[in-house]
Amino acid sequence: MTNVFVDKNVFKEAFQTRVEQIYGIKFEESTPHQRYFTLGTLVREYISSNWIETNQAIVEGKHKQVYYFSMEFLMGRLLTNNIMNLGIRSTIEAAMNDLNIDLNELEKIEADAGLGNGGLGRLAACFMDSIASLALPGHGNGMRYRYGFFEQKIIDGYQVEVPDKWLQRGYVWEVRKSNESVEIPFYGEIKVDKVDGRDVYTHLPAEYVRAVPYDVPVVGDITSGNKTVNTLRLWSSEPTEKDYPDHISAVDYEKGVRNISEFLYPDDSTREGKVLRLKQQYFFVAAGVRWAVRQHKETYQTLDNFHEKNVLHINDTHPALIVPELMRILIDEEGYDWDQAWFITQHSCAYTNHTILAEALEKWPVDLFKPLLPRIYMITEEINRRYCLDLLNRYPNQPEKVAQLAIIGHDQVRMAHLAIVGSFSINGVAQLHTDILTHIEMKDFYHMYPDRFNNKTNGITHRRWLLHCNPELTKILDEQIGTQYHTNTFELAKFEEKINDKNVKDEIKKMKYARKKALSDRIYKEQGVLLDPNSIFDIQVKRLHAYKRQLLNAMHIMYLYNRLKEDEVFRANFHPQSFIFGAKAASGYYFAKKVIKLINSIAEKVNNDSDTNQLLKVVFVENYNVTYAELIMPAADLSEQISTASKEASGTGNMKFMLNGAMTIGTMDGANVEIHELVGDDNSFIFGLSADEVNDYYQNGGYNPWDLYHSDARIHRVLDQLVNGFLTPDTEEFRDIFNAVTHHGDEYFVLKDFDAYVRAQERANQTYKNQDKWLEMSMINIARSGKFSSDRTIQEYSDQIWHLDPLTF
Ligand SMILES: *Cc1c(COP(=O)(O)O)cnc(C)c1O
Repeated sequence: MTNVFVDKNVFKEAFQTRVEQIYGIKFEESTPHQRYFTLGTLVREYISSNWIETNQAIVEGKHKQVYYFSMEFLMGRLLTNNIMNLGIRSTIEAAMNDLNIDLNELEKIEADAGLGNGGLGRLAACFMDSIASLALPGHGNGMRYRYGFFEQKIIDGYQVEVPDKWLQRGYVWEVRKSNESVEIPFYGEIKVDKVDGRDVYTHLPAEYVRAVPYDVPVVGDITSGNKTVNTLRLWSSEPTEKDYPDHISAVDYEKGVRNISEFLYPDDSTREGKVLRLKQQYFFVAAGVRWAVRQHKETYQTLDNFHEKNVLHINDTHPALIVPELMRILIDEEGYDWDQAWFITQHSCAYTNHTILAEALEKWPVDLFKPLLPRIYMITEEINRRYCLDLLNRYPNQPEKVAQLAIIGHDQVRMAHLAIVGSFSINGVAQLHTDILTHIEMKDFYHMYPDRFNNKTNGITHRRWLLHCNPELTKILDEQIGTQYHTNTFELAKFEEKINDKNVKDEIKKMKYARKKALSDRIYKEQGVLLDPNSIFDIQVKRLHAYKRQLLNAMHIMYLYNRLKEDEVFRANFHPQSFIFGAKAASGYYFAKKVIKLINSIAEKVNNDSDTNQLLKVVFVENYNVTYAELIMPAADLSEQISTASKEASGTGNMKFMLNGAMTIGTMDGANVEIHELVGDDNSFIFGLSADEVNDYYQNGGYNPWDLYHSDARIHRVLDQLVNGFLTPDTEEFRDIFNAVTHHGDEYFVLKDFDAYVRAQERANQTYKNQDKWLEMSMINIARSGKFSSDRTIQEYSDQIWHLDPLTF
């Protein structure tokens, strides 16, 4: 195939011709969407030769591969990153200029692939980018949800959820591979036959669902000659080509089947929703394992060495069914005996734990699991039986210990225990998180399998979160320290030599102003709130969750407002501050939705008070997603990372902010600890209870929020204002928030950390007034953020868990 991107004229010609060929109209009459789609098509075609070569290189070089199984991939847009990684942006831009087309406008037409809820899904997306950019053979395996994460509207201050129809106009990056479809069995029964004195089990399914793969190319950064294009394979559910089940009507069957890949995280508060979720998990796991097994057999004709050539990575517990599914294939389909099958399985699987929140640890009721996946249940039971024999040896007189550590207990299948027992590696996602896992939450497992546990601190792709989203900063860095940091972010350290350079400081100041202006323009256009780029941009964007404590931030703003209105001296010393929030709340999460309403009520009050609105502004941006984050991260002065210590496994938003020169105001939680380790107290604003203190309170009690309500007048006043009509005429609107932090014990220590937070905020506000100092701090944060590239994270996964070799072709 000829390369249409060799120069701008060749591209221009090809582009116009192709628009006319695809749509049968004159180029001049084409719509922006048609142009976008045609550009995407040409880029995808350009990618395809390297895509084919990558797969050939893997097979011919007999390379070991990783399959990264994740229920979520929060990819965002791909056009910009693909043309950046391919190094063809300037050619396209030049051609578009000639045609009087704004490339930026075309890029904005792409819908975000929002196949994830937040940090976990975004991590998977950053990992895909880094695996390909390091030329490592690795593929993503996930679900092609027809509706991604809902679109958020704010109406009268309340969140309203609208379905995300991201596929409505077609998705230019995917390639449907119907010939690689597989049939996934559900329900039915197990037949046992004696063959040569051995029991042979056959699953007679009651229904099949067809899994059809859609492949999305993952383009690595081509700098330094890399041509790797990996595959993100997303499975869609369709009716089987086998016999339809006879116990349900064709219409019901069809509807049930389509449902499996319809929504990301269907409501699982009902039994029906739960079955669907487990169906999704087995569906994409079974399809992905078949993919890996088939590929392996094509190359090696045996599964004896499957574990030497493949790693099946379990991203959180959702794909933990990989373990019994691979066992099933090895035993039932390939004739291995149990011990051989277990050896191969246990040496193929690796598991990442993402949370210690008890309510997030997945458990499936046996009476739901067993009928849906009868053979998988049987195998899980046998894994559990053998493992419990081990446990009994280890804890001979402690049956309660054995019950507590078992995979199946209290009529539930514990997915985390299944993943731990079935994997050769178990990792946490930041040092503190891993320490809490090994010393507290999973300490018995750690003592049993100390060599399996390890830490891999999360990272973010600097290509999207710096080079793409902050061109101004990229330009400054390129000029000051060269471009080596594009491929090795530790080179950013060189920027620290410039912290006393007056001109560079000035450039950084201009960069920040420009990014703040760009964000405030969008906010003004969409929401009518005008933010002054000279004010401090204090930003908290992340999922809305009690443990992330958006409420602490909101209560501080109420306190600030009260104080600014009454304390003249304070007012005179205060630098104007703009508080920006972005967050989606799960549709059934009552408390989280109340907090959204609270923030909007505060915004309404504060922004309309002419007495203070030159000093204090609040805005809740609508529909925070990856594309919005690309505008928000570079615009921050202060990065709010204020979760209750011990609750945030790592966080990655904190890293995106740091890389773009924001200072962290945060607790010693997740990767904040590692940020603080790098920049110290002088270049961050750390406050609040430590993880140990929090755990101590949980274990021993000793905290009563009412004491603070009565002793701290600021807290007393703010809490009263929640329920006395100060914010809204309806005094019941925020009653449950009031109750949560008082009557219900303030589980997340909002009141306990309030005073420390106020003081940290005061330090930040006063420090900002010394611009020289602030800019120096900002530059130090940028210079020391190299560790947080996901290239570093992936290199560690590869060196210490996966053991992959880079492709060279
Ligand atoms: C990075 C990112 C997250 C994760 O943010 P945390 O602050 O680490 O929770 C969530 N959503 C989007 C859109 C992101 O880009």
